[in-house]
Amino acid sequence: MTPQEVLAMCRENDVKAIDFRFMDFPGIWQHFGIPANKLDEDVFEDGLGFDGSSIRGWQAINESDMLLMPQPDTAIIDPFCKLKTLMLICNVQDPITREDYSRDPRNIARKAVNYLKSTGVADTCFIGPEAEFFIFDDVRFDQTPQAGYFYLDSVEAAWNRGRDYRAEGMGPNLGYKLRHKEGYFPCPPADQMNDIRAEMMQLMIDCGMDVEAQHHEVATAGQAEIDLKFDDLVTMGDKQCLYKYIIKNVAHQHGKTVTFMPKPLFSDNGSGMHTHISFWKNGEPLFAGNGYAGLSDEAMYGIGGILKHAPALLAFTNPTTNSYKRLVPGYEAPVNLAYSQRNRSASCRIPMYSPSPKAKRIEFRCPDPSSNPYLAFSALMMATLDGIQNKIDPGDPLDKDIYDLSPEELATVPKTPGSLGEALNALSEDHEFLLRGDVFTEDVISTWIDYKMKNEVEALALRPHPYEFCMYYDM
Ligand code: GLN
Ligand code: MG
Ligand code: MG
Ligand code: MG
Repeated sequence: MTPQEVLAMCRENDVKAIDFRFMDFPGIWQHFGIPANKLDEDVFEDGLGFDGSSIRGWQAINESDMLLMPQPDTAIIDPFCKLKTLMLICNVQDPITREDYSRDPRNIARKAVNYLKSTGVADTCFIGPEAEFFIFDDVRFDQTPQAGYFYLDSVEAAWNRGRDYRAEGMGPNLGYKLRHKEGYFPCPPADQMNDIRAEMMQLMIDCGMDVEAQHHEVATAGQAEIDLKFDDLVTMGDKQCLYKYIIKNVAHQHGKTVTFMPKPLFSDNGSGMHTHISFWKNGEPLFAGNGYAGLSDEAMYGIGGILKHAPALLAFTNPTTNSYKRLVPGYEAPVNLAYSQRNRSASCRIPMYSPSPKAKRIEFRCPDPSSNPYLAFSALMMATLDGIQNKIDPGDPLDKDIYDLSPEELATVPKTPGSLGEALNALSEDHEFLLRGDVFTEDVISTWIDYKMKNEVEALALRPHPYEFCMYYDM
């Protein structure tokens, strides 16, 4: 779409307001609006000024003026605003140099794709994420700096708080209730979330997204998954922003609330964002071949790159303290850095659903939806590319159920980092592969590590935890 076509779209749809969207550094979509009569072709050329100093992880106050550059090909009508509103996703620029801002996550994703092309290895990186999330009736938490108190309002949450209604054979109407870990996937009325997921799915389609499937997930407290058809890396970053926006707003309209935090409930499945990746060149898939699981040498080396860099990579794909509460044995989340064609306990899986070479891809199962999609997809792409360029051997596949290995066998398999702090330390040791092509700069890496250490790792470690009261209060 051109700027003229966007302006025509505004006239045809009687659009009254324009809403500009961009992604902050940690990964929350930001916006501001103008009246529709203020949008003209110049805005697409000259951009819109805004104060970047209050955006988390961005400019210092003395250099805070920034420009948003709306991207005409991202225009869609916002399905939620009462006033007819057109939304545009923006790139971020420095108003003086007119250079793209190095800490803009979308800019990092654009640079990643350009770098891939410049290497000659491939011209396209397709990404297919499977984000999972929880739909809760209510959540309360104390947002003061002393925060510690919260609750999620559901039977599961009551169980989490120490009361097991199911075991007691009581509690609110157990007819047609999903059983613990059996959310995947009986029909309604046991699945009480079908209508709300179907509505989310339809709004995604109305917004031009290609939806593959929607379903209840294993955890019984309304865990859900909606899958999008793969798309190129930058477009999928944009779609993931819109995806969360639609899901959260549909839930909100139903008086419910959604969380993408990876492990909201103790002792139940967490929410992952398995991410499928494939490289293409001149319209041909590069990952199909005659090797293990129908993979090419490129794909095997790509796996080698992902597994080698995984500890550092997880600082972007699993970037919250809560991410590491999901990566534990027993909940279908990967804990071992290994690959397999059928084994869902390996962190890299080769899906075997389709014999078509076009469907050949690597499924990296570590990522979770608390990640910034632009950064997570870019870092995954760079690790895959490094594997191919340096012919990194992924070793032998692990085709047994990793959870069933003996302790001796298991000890030889490398593990995912145990905490965000560990992943950030790995990133500070291993990030050369991310710097190539100026994709992630030293500034981006060090800002990420400092931001996450100070605002998340240390912020959590310093606070007395509610469970500490349970364990220690009576000491
Ligand atoms: N929820 C699981 C995870 O944390 C995945 C479950 C599945 O899709 N098989 O990765
Ligand atoms: Mg899935
Ligand atoms: Mg799933
Ligand atoms: Mg999957």
